[in-house]
Amino acid sequence: DTIGDNFDRTVAAFPDRDALVDRASGGRWSYRELATEVDALALGLLAAGIGKGDRVGIWAPNCAEWTFTQYASAKIGAILVNINPAYRSHELEFVLNQAGIRLLIAAESFKTSDYAAMIEEVRPQCTNLERVLLLGGEDWRRVLDEGRAADTSALARAQANLSADDPINIQYTSGTTGFPKGATLSHHNILNNGFFVGELCGYTEADRVCIPVPFYHCFGMVMGNLACTSHGSCMVIPAPSFDPTATLDAVAAERCTSLYGVPTMFIAELAEPGFADYDLNSLRTGIMAGSPCPVEVMKQVIERMGMAEVSICYGMTETSPVSTQTRADDSVDRRVSTVGRVGPHIEVKVVDPETGLTVPRGEPGELCTRGYSVMLGYWEQPDKTAEAIDLARWMHTGDLAVMDGDGYVNITGRIKDMVIRGGENLYPREIEEFLYTHPDILDAQVVGVPDAKYGEELMAWVRMREGAAPLSADSLREFCHGKLAHYKIPRYVHVVDEFPMTVTGKVRKVEMREKSIDLLG
Ligand code: ATP
Ligand code: MG
Repeated sequence: DTIGDNFDRTVAAFPDRDALVDRASGGRWSYRELATEVDALALGLLAAGIGKGDRVGIWAPNCAEWTFTQYASAKIGAILVNINPAYRSHELEFVLNQAGIRLLIAAESFKTSDYAAMIEEVRPQCTNLERVLLLGGEDWRRVLDEGRAADTSALARAQANLSADDPINIQYTSGTTGFPKGATLSHHNILNNGFFVGELCGYTEADRVCIPVPFYHCFGMVMGNLACTSHGSCMVIPAPSFDPTATLDAVAAERCTSLYGVPTMFIAELAEPGFADYDLNSLRTGIMAGSPCPVEVMKQVIERMGMAEVSICYGMTETSPVSTQTRADDSVDRRVSTVGRVGPHIEVKVVDPETGLTVPRGEPGELCTRGYSVMLGYWEQPDKTAEAIDLARWMHTGDLAVMDGDGYVNITGRIKDMVIRGGENLYPREIEEFLYTHPDILDAQVVGVPDAKYGEELMAWVRMREGAAPLSADSLREFCHGKLAHYKIPRYVHVVDEFPMTVTGKVRKVEMREKSIDLLG
């Protein structure tokens, strides 16, 4: 199926069900109404000369128009390029040129970002860029009006000319470990992934999914939007960008059955002062993903948020994204402590990164994944693609994992984050999990810093709970003493209010490592 054909089928099956709620604008659309907006934009884009294979950029925080653009571009076979809302002019210019964007749809501004001014600044250097539509602006409205007046047969013809294997989307990775890379994905890649994620969450037309994660990222647009539209569920946008209060408000007011987030988002929601006053009893399920999901946080999500069936997904932009997922019928223990088993029609294996040979179950190695979900490649970066995907089409994830005898996978960290102290391989994840059990610690991250004697030493960055006194290195060591092997006990502690984060809500360990080195002088 193409995304457009799948969307049309859902519209025909559930025309009057709620499809989309945008809490910031107050807009709500049934599937029939959503289809009207999507088709008008698709026809307007066709009339503007945009067609199959053309790159259309979208640069905006979460809003209904983002969703319209996602489906309109898919219907005409244009390649949607997701642009990070946190970018500034230099990065914008890079993406516009790297992806060869012809038409850019952008918010005029958001918070302190004047998108319109940044676009004008870089425009002379972007020769592919022919047209800019500012959301809500005159030109945007004109395109929609033209689309509404157009002959709909043009859209049917455009749709009939597409194949499921065509590239449809360029998504940049989060940039956690370096400069983001543009993963090129097909209808087949992301539509199937969204569909299976939704299926394993048990979605039907009765579900209402609260999506506080960015649409710019696969978590929002695939596991969120595509999972919903392929099952007739409703997409609820709580706010343009993550806000814990707006998210809890949206769940309660819209009676959401499912809630998404990276771990830091759930941590923030659970720590909201008025948390106990929200009626969250409509919640049945949800997804935590994107970075290591602490067992303590998972338990609280189940117990205090009532998300009895919550699942953890593991994946990466390059694999559409999800490769493994926990399921409602897995034991609670496995649902809080593993990333589940491999998804339908996907293969995973754990290999020795040196030899490439599969390691025995229970032993750590690099996770590799293969199947329909592996991207077509990095956009115009054949060398990087060849480094990541081998000749047998296995994607080498760069993540360290252990698979048990029943196929449950544990992600122990990224190869790049592993710390080698005195010849001992240390996995920050394991130590972070332990630090979460400290009553005064809200959030903890562990990084390696250079050390003359041991090669590397551990530094823990911690965020304290409200009212708790800052933790000293001595008291932390005392807390760990007798519970962690001596070489796993962090030597240094750095107390902060916030960690450096990507817009997708991930902790930027690279930056933390650099700052840690500065701190030690
Ligand atoms: P970049 O590739 O630009 O450095 P990134 O890898 O963070 O950034 P994404 O594609 O957004 O970009 O994230 C994929 C990565 O997120 C995975 O490779 C993995 O390291 C991590 N991840 C995702 N889900 C989980 C999870 N459930 N548990 C642990 N880690 C996860
Ligand atoms: Mg990555």
